[in-house]
Amino acid sequence: MQVKRFATGFLLSALLVSCSSLPLSDRLFEQNEPTPIVGLLQFETPEALKAACSKDHERIEKTFVELTAFDGTPSVQSVLMPYNDISVALYEIDAATFFVGNTHPDAEMRAAGLECDQKISDLATRISISRPLYDLIGAVDVSQEDAATQYFTQQLLRDFELTGVNRDKEIREKVRVLSDEISKIGNTFRRNISEDVRTVTVSSVEELAGLPEDFIENHPPDKNGNIAITTEYPDYFPVMTYAHNDDLRRNLRREALQLAYPINKPVLSELIEKRHELATTLGFKNWAEFALADKMVGKPERAQKFIDDINEAARGSAQDELALLLARMKEIDPKATKVQGWQVGYLNELVRQEQYSIDAQEVRKYFQYDHVLDGVLKLTSDLFGVEFQPWDTEVWHESVEAYQVIEKGKVIGLIYLDMHPREGKYKHAGHFSVRRGIPGRQLPISALVTNFPGGDGTAGLMEHGQVETFLHEFGHLIHNVFAGVHQWNDISGNSMERDFVEAPSQMLEEWVWDYDTLKTFAVNSAGETIPESLVEKMNNARYFGQGIGTTGQTMLAAMSLGYYSRDPSVLDLDQLNEEMQNRYSVFEFDSDNYRYASFGHLNGYSAYYYTYQWSLAIASDMFSRFEDEGMRNKRVARDYRRAVLASGGSKPADKAVEAFLGRPFTVDAYMQQLRRGVSVNTAEE
Ligand SMILES: [Zn+2]
Repeated sequence: MQVKRFATGFLLSALLVSCSSLPLSDRLFEQNEPTPIVGLLQFETPEALKAACSKDHERIEKTFVELTAFDGTPSVQSVLMPYNDISVALYEIDAATFFVGNTHPDAEMRAAGLECDQKISDLATRISISRPLYDLIGAVDVSQEDAATQYFTQQLLRDFELTGVNRDKEIREKVRVLSDEISKIGNTFRRNISEDVRTVTVSSVEELAGLPEDFIENHPPDKNGNIAITTEYPDYFPVMTYAHNDDLRRNLRREALQLAYPINKPVLSELIEKRHELATTLGFKNWAEFALADKMVGKPERAQKFIDDINEAARGSAQDELALLLARMKEIDPKATKVQGWQVGYLNELVRQEQYSIDAQEVRKYFQYDHVLDGVLKLTSDLFGVEFQPWDTEVWHESVEAYQVIEKGKVIGLIYLDMHPREGKYKHAGHFSVRRGIPGRQLPISALVTNFPGGDGTAGLMEHGQVETFLHEFGHLIHNVFAGVHQWNDISGNSMERDFVEAPSQMLEEWVWDYDTLKTFAVNSAGETIPESLVEKMNNARYFGQGIGTTGQTMLAAMSLGYYSRDPSVLDLDQLNEEMQNRYSVFEFDSDNYRYASFGHLNGYSAYYYTYQWSLAIASDMFSRFEDEGMRNKRVARDYRRAVLASGGSKPADKAVEAFLGRPFTVDAYMQQLRRGVSVNTAEE
């Protein structure tokens, strides 16, 4: 996941996440000086953070007011440069405070971070609808400038126009008010999800049968003999995958499907209503049409067709997989006539073990967190010719690590790895772009925030899927670092179209299936390297579950597009939830399913959750070159870095992909792969 939030307008639509210290803009407005390397989260009290926030807010506002009052000849120097300063400063302080809000160990600091983030977001929205600024930028003659500057200016004006800045004053004011409201409602929606943790209690260790030993050890009974299992990921996934106890899985899943319900139902309704109002105010038919106007896919109709095509391509294998799961279920309960949602993960694991001889617990033994980290760093070093050296800087928690990315003896980027769970922290796995690189001015900074095992004195045994997630997030990180080479903040870093942004990460996941890569780091506690035969079996089993998984993803994509393309006055959240499940999923709808209340992407991605599948199609297509020319082919990796990663947002993503492939991308490779489906006999030896 690429952590990013919506706000109307150019500044925040290009905004990622971050963190920093000190009055940011003092530093940021110095030209021609590399920004000093700073530690993150150095605010010692919530008051200090708030004071720094106010100071930055004033400073940015002052520069903005001065710029809009400019009455000389608009030029790159007189208009685009000061605009860039504002963009850099807003990005940094917003990213900093959002990052604090999601990761700081102290709850009051998190609250102060989010409060400041809100304040800065409001300012950014105000700037993004400034008519004088739009007029000034539109008056700059860029015809003699380089292609990236021309593209940057053109995108900037287009984004301005998407805020209605060229419309009359009344509309602009309405947009401003709505944007503020949307941002606040979205924060509430997100906070309600992150604050809701539900618990299921079992009364004996026997009820945890099937779960890994370390899981059972980490869940000792309390003094009454009860064991609490929460809906948090580190509990949820092991239980859904391994617990023999059908009741435990059913109860836990029911809790998970009701997270943030009912509290978030009216919040989501209001979020959808306000967004619809904003989109229609600007002359769009609905929010989906508005939100897709700056994406690769362009129009909701095209996204809908893509979702339907992918669902259709995946359906055959989904049905095959379901039949296999049901057959296995009948061995447990001969009277079973269907597979229930809470049984899928468990049966899936049984079938994988039996049909494909894959024992996920056996696989985990080869993925100790520390080794995996070394392996991921080495892989990216080998492919792209960079090194990672420990960076001695302050961090916000003892488990956080920091590295410098070095190329030819020069530091080209800085990274933070906040990889293990703790209370109050962001609960998913995400890449936070802390800062975009600008040559001669500032280095790119990226942070990964995940909840992987380890960091607590245990061996930190990871699922293979977690290793895949690690590589995925690392894909975002190297993208942001390698793309941090552009003069203009808005087009530097991984700032290309949002429905492309997952593709490089999804492509990097391929390496976690490659024996030559795995053998470099997958070693168990006895020092034995993962056997090649095991990796072969894993590859045979790789696509088992993809049919069901893809139909599920298309269901969520259709839900996200559906909620935002209907008229909200007649939209029934529950009804559409059920309708989408029945239309796209191969499972029946269960009555206590309120997944929309905790589906955080309905805030962040809003209408464009299809993007995961869309960029998967691009990733499949791009990977075809590595498949043909070698996964460790440094020339291909270099081409890829230059053509795709380093281009950042300096050109349309389809042009970057075309430059790498030597032809336009198509979705054919992905559709074919989905249609191939599963072969259940592949593991027979
Ligand atoms: Zn991602």
